[in-house]
Amino acid sequence: VSATLEASRITEAHRLAQARLGVATVADLLATWSLIDPKRLDETTPNWLLVSTRVIQQRRTESARLAADFLNVSRLLAVGEMFAPVVMSAVDVTALTTSLTVTGPVALKQAMTLARPLAAAAETAQATSAASGMRHALAGGRETIAETTKADPAARGYRRVTSGSACKFCSNLADRGAVYDEATRHFAAHDSCSCSSQPLYIDGWGDTQRVAQFMRRDLTDAQRADANARVRAWVGSS
Ligand SMILES: [Zn+2]
Repeated sequence: VSATLEASRITEAHRLAQARLGVATVADLLATWSLIDPKRLDETTPNWLLVSTRVIQQRRTESARLAADFLNVSRLLAVGEMFAPVVMSAVDVTALTTSLTVTGPVALKQAMTLARPLAAAAETAQATSAASGMRHALAGGRETIAETTKADPAARGYRRVTSGSACKFCSNLADRGAVYDEATRHFAAHDSCSCSSQPLYIDGWGDTQRVAQFMRRDLTDAQRADANARVRAWVGSS
C-alpha cells in the first residue's frame, strides 16, 4: 500500500468516526431538549443549558482525542515519528451558550410572538440548537488538527475533507486545497457540517531531519500493527 493511499484510508476512517460522534451528539441534545418547557421557557432554559453544555464538553473532549490519535498515526506514517498534538478539548462556554440560546429558546420565543404553532416551532428549535451543539463538539477535533499542524514544523497545513454529499459551501472550501496561512487557520463550519480535515506534511521531511530507521518505509511491524489497530477502532466505534 502506498503512503498516499494509506493516508487517505486513515483520513476517511477518522472522518467517519467524527461524523458518528456528531450524530451521537445530536441524539444526546435532542434528548436534553425534554428539559425545556415551552410554556415556562425562562425558568427551564438555565438547566437545559447546563446539561447540554456538559454533554457537549464531553463530546468535544472525545472529538479532540480522536483527532489527536489521528494526527499521531498520520504523522507516524508520513514522517516516521510523532509530534505531541495540541489538544483543543476545552469548550468556549460563552460562545456555546450564545449559540444554544439563540438557536433554541430565543428562536422559539420569536416563533411564539409570530403566532406559529407551538409544537412545530419547538421541534425546529430543538433541531437547530442540537445542530449548533454538534458544531461546538466537533470543533474539538477540527481545532486540534488546525493548531497541531500550525505548531508542527513538519506539517505544511491541512486540507478539508468532505463527504460525497457535502453542501456547496463546504465543497468550495475543500476545492481550495491545502490551508497554510494564519488567516484561514480557523476551520469554517456551519451547523450540521460533517467535514473533517487531513494534516499535510512537508515532503521528504524525514529524509533530512530524522534518522533513517524512523523513516516510514522502515516502520516496525509493531508500529504498523498499532496504526492499523487504531484505524480499526475508529471504524468500529459507535
Ligand atoms: Zn461541511
